Amino acid sequence: MNHYDIQKRILDVFAECSVFSFPVDCTSLLEHYGYTLHTYQELGRKNKALYEMCISYSEEAFRDGAHRIIAYNQDKSPLRIRFSLAHELGHHILGHKNETRHNEIEANFFAGNLLAPRMAIYYARCQNARDVSFIFQISEEAAQIAYEDYLRWHEELLLRERRMTALERDMYYHFYRAEQDCFVWNVKTCDFCGATLYNSYENHCRGCELPKERPLRSDTPALSDILFSDDMERFRRMEARWLSPIL
Ligand SMILES: [Zn+2]
Ligand SMILES: [Zn+2]
Repeated sequence: MNHYDIQKRILDVFAECSVFSFPVDCTSLLEHYGYTLHTYQELGRKNKALYEMCISYSEEAFRDGAHRIIAYNQDKSPLRIRFSLAHELGHHILGHKNETRHNEIEANFFAGNLLAPRMAIYYARCQNARDVSFIFQISEEAAQIAYEDYLRWHEELLLRERRMTALERDMYYHFYRAEQDCFVWNVKTCDFCGATLYNSYENHCRGCELPKERPLRSDTPALSDILFSDDMERFRRMEARWLSPIL
């Protein structure tokens, strides 16, 4: 299956599962497709041999498509687990019957693009892999791959002035919200007043000050620097070109 077809399947998942915000909740996507999730550790408490079997099969995760069961290794970092779950969802959505090298590459491409679509990286205005890791909640390693791929896509689109494909257009309109008049990659509520926040890098609205005793997050990425930067006009011009009709 080529990249275009895999991306088409990803958009189908977003539509089917009403995904309108990042980071994607992998657990609920798998549950939507009828999967029950278990940890290796939980299986091991019931049956030690089962744990040994899982871990010898894969350090990360294991899928039984026939019984719609996914088991994953809880000892891995949360970001790695998210990627593993998205990878297993990829095998399901792409109809893989076995774990050939080719299928592994496809499932990884699926996972990387499901968790951090290139267009969402663009609209989230990520400046580096660290931003991608922070916003889309993927490991720095996965973020590096996604960011480099995004740069290639971005260059082709904006510097060489390629127009949107039909699929990109569908993707754009899936995430477009008329009331915001933009591509929305994140929706959350303010920690303090409960107001709905769109495309915010913070967990509180601008009107709600952080209490003094609460230290500012130390890992704030470069995003804060560009958040209210004055290049919005330039950004809008680029967007107008990018949205112009398909040739
Ligand atoms: Zn796999
Ligand atoms: Zn607020």
